[in-house]
Amino acid sequence: MPPSVSIIIVGAGLGGLATAIGLRRADHQVTVLEKAPALGEIGAGIKVPPNSGRVFREWGLLDEVHKIGICPQENKMRSYRDGEVLSTMPLDGTCRDKFGLPYFVVHRVDLQHMLAAAAEREGAVIEFKREVTGVRGIPGEAFVQLASGEELVADVVLGADGERSRVRTSLLGQEFRWRDSGDHVFRATVPLQTLQGDEELKELEKGINWWIGPQGNALTYPLKRGGLLNIVITHVHPLDAIVEFAPRPIPQADVANEFEGWDPLYHRLLSLTTTCARWTLLHTDMATQWTGESGNIALMGDAAHAILPYLAQGAALAVEDAATLSVLFGSMKDKSQIPDILTVFETIRKPRAVEMNCRVGMARDIWSMPDGALQRERDRQLREYEPYDGYPNVLADPALTEWAFGYDAFEEARKAWDKFQRGQFPHTRGTWKLNSD
Ligand SMILES: Cc1cc2nc3c(=O)[nH]c(=O)nc-3n(C[C@H](O)[C@H](O)[C@H](O)COP(=O)(O)OP(=O)(O)OC[C@H]3O[C@@H](n4cnc5c(N)ncnc54)[C@H](O)[C@@H]3O)c2cc1C
Repeated sequence: MPPSVSIIIVGAGLGGLATAIGLRRADHQVTVLEKAPALGEIGAGIKVPPNSGRVFREWGLLDEVHKIGICPQENKMRSYRDGEVLSTMPLDGTCRDKFGLPYFVVHRVDLQHMLAAAAEREGAVIEFKREVTGVRGIPGEAFVQLASGEELVADVVLGADGERSRVRTSLLGQEFRWRDSGDHVFRATVPLQTLQGDEELKELEKGINWWIGPQGNALTYPLKRGGLLNIVITHVHPLDAIVEFAPRPIPQADVANEFEGWDPLYHRLLSLTTTCARWTLLHTDMATQWTGESGNIALMGDAAHAILPYLAQGAALAVEDAATLSVLFGSMKDKSQIPDILTVFETIRKPRAVEMNCRVGMARDIWSMPDGALQRERDRQLREYEPYDGYPNVLADPALTEWAFGYDAFEEARKAWDKFQRGQFPHTRGTWKLNSD
């Protein structure tokens, strides 16, 4: 009978909650500590690509994602100038055919509530108003310090507290450092019913539309919650812009001014927005080390590997982390294997996060090309070809989608565990021998 260990997860974001589900399914005792007084009620859309959908399917949650989500039929790339459709790709059909799973868009709040309910059903305890200020570990015991002055102890602590992670600062002894990515992000919504009188705008309901322009891109897709069209725009900000961490409401006219010269259809859409907020996209370097010296504290999700949102894969990576941890902790034979499990986790997850980060940078460059020869050639390739490896309509690029959407986190974790069991996993402490007892 595998041992049941106590695990504290810091942060009830999408990554922390998914991990709570996975670790409860592996029969461990799970407590999630969240500093907020309740689950978030703000946010907008989030995409659930097949690589995270696969995890939800394994856990019997796919029907629930269906209930809160929409499967966009197509993915269109448009010129920022006049809205010319440069590439139209079937999205839902292609994902189902190639990966056996839909591509969903959901409201972040709905997904978070769905995951919290599933975690609690599995037996996880979620405690709110529990702000963690630090962590420390000794072999065999991991501690979290709370703002209340209390200290809690567990066998394992996982820092899933997001890109400004306190756990990371405390674990690695380095202050949180951010860099301005150089981009503003705008989030706006339009009630779908207000599109009804305009045939061209109504078309936007069918799928994902991107206007790719110089120095930025605008993305729209429909959301079930509230019957909204979600708009996410990223755009290079002026050099003297004030860095704003949190979304701040801004007048519609200011957004319209920033995109002067863009497609009239896009401006018609902007004129219908009911809410619009802007903030600065910040970037943190990936944590150099995800696991502490004591071998029982680790980082995951954005705390370990925050990436910019251009490929809509940040939360998906966090959900893959959760699946990986569930397989590894589900295979454990003895508590003494915890340090090796966390080493295996970091070793298999880091290269994927690093590569995703690289691909995100490439996507940003492709979609923000300034006017000129490169942009004209990009648009010609989009217009004239069916998808090929490196195709600029990234969600249709066969090589990228195979790598990103085809990833099976459970399978990769099982393969790693097999290698560990053979005694061939680098930097582990030899606890694989326990498996053959
Ligand atoms: C504009 C934008 C669009 C995006 N779109 C997508 C998308 O479409 N698809 C996708 O996969 N990803 C997307 N992402 C990325 C995604 O939002 C993140 O990667 C994901 O939310 C990370 O989840 P997490 O659980 O690791 O961290 P978070 O979601 O940041 O959760 C961290 C949690 O920890 C809590 N916390 C923080 N500090 C403490 C503390 N000291 N003590 C206790 N609790 C604490 C926080 O309150 C929070 O609840 C997008 C990001 C942005 C900015």
